[in-house]
Amino acid sequence: MEILFGTHPKYIEHDAGSGHPEQPARLDAVLAGVEESGVREGIGFFVPEPATMADLHRVHDPAYVDALRRFCLMGGGQLDPDTAVSVASWDAALLAAGSGLDAVRRLRAGEASSAFLAVRPPGHHAVADRAMGFCLINNVAVTAASLVAEGEKVLIFDYDAHHGNGTQDIFYRDPNVLYVSFHQYPLYPGTGRADEVGAGAGVGTTVNIPVPAETTLGTYQAAIDEIVAPAVDAFGPTWVIASAGFDGHRDDPLTELGLTAQDFGDLTSWLFALVPRGRRIAILEGGYNLRALTLSAASTLAAMVGERLMAEKPSSGEARIPVIRAIREARARSLEL
Ligand SMILES: [Zn+2]
Repeated sequence: MEILFGTHPKYIEHDAGSGHPEQPARLDAVLAGVEESGVREGIGFFVPEPATMADLHRVHDPAYVDALRRFCLMGGGQLDPDTAVSVASWDAALLAAGSGLDAVRRLRAGEASSAFLAVRPPGHHAVADRAMGFCLINNVAVTAASLVAEGEKVLIFDYDAHHGNGTQDIFYRDPNVLYVSFHQYPLYPGTGRADEVGAGAGVGTTVNIPVPAETTLGTYQAAIDEIVAPAVDAFGPTWVIASAGFDGHRDDPLTELGLTAQDFGDLTSWLFALVPRGRRIAILEGGYNLRALTLSAASTLAAMVGERLMAEKPSSGEARIPVIRAIREARARSLEL
């Protein structure tokens, strides 16, 4: 088997409210991507174990975790204008957070070369003491923190169209996690400027690439060459985790980026080549056009075994060199302070 694919029936039961874009049908769309990936025979399904309280407490305040548990189990409701929970959301959140931990155990046992975790609710907006932006527990952060506790150095590559403010915040002072985010800017949640570079011992280990609407893959690749790759080389990751949001697809209803399904595959190919087999995980974040989600997940899965699916062509368009130059200069100024 090449790819471990983790998903759980309880992820479907998390209900963010009628008409909410973060809907249960998203998981069906991702599962359809398994069938359309062309690499189905290399994919093995597993049912994740839930995270423990100790796992969550590495990145979240115990008081927040307890309040979230009680709020869900008492019936749920709105946590903020974007974020609602149901009774089932508590189990779903524990199982989403546990999926990465379970994947690490299985990858270390040699079960596969990489893992894709099709989870709900998503995680990258959740901060240490608060849910926000459809996210309850920061799934990627829980996994990264467990790896760091075991002496690993973790690159989190967040290509969701929104900035992962929660992940950035949790690891802002941590020299053992390199957080790299490409995101549309300005856009919710408003963070992720190029001059946010980390603090204390973590100066330099936050890399933000804020890009304007309609940005295509050429700009991503140029920014990788000029800004991200040198930071990755200096950091030396031993594991990579993709915060795999597919809402940067050009057909997504919530954002205006210009990516195609194949672009996510090509980004995954670059990312997963940075570390040896068995140290590569992708965890689902956003993505709200169901067909785009299917094709993007399929292209990502194909890339995880070295294939280019080409269900859609890569996006075309010149790299926006002035954008990259401005990011590089803002970052350099901030690093000199
Ligand atoms: Zn998003």
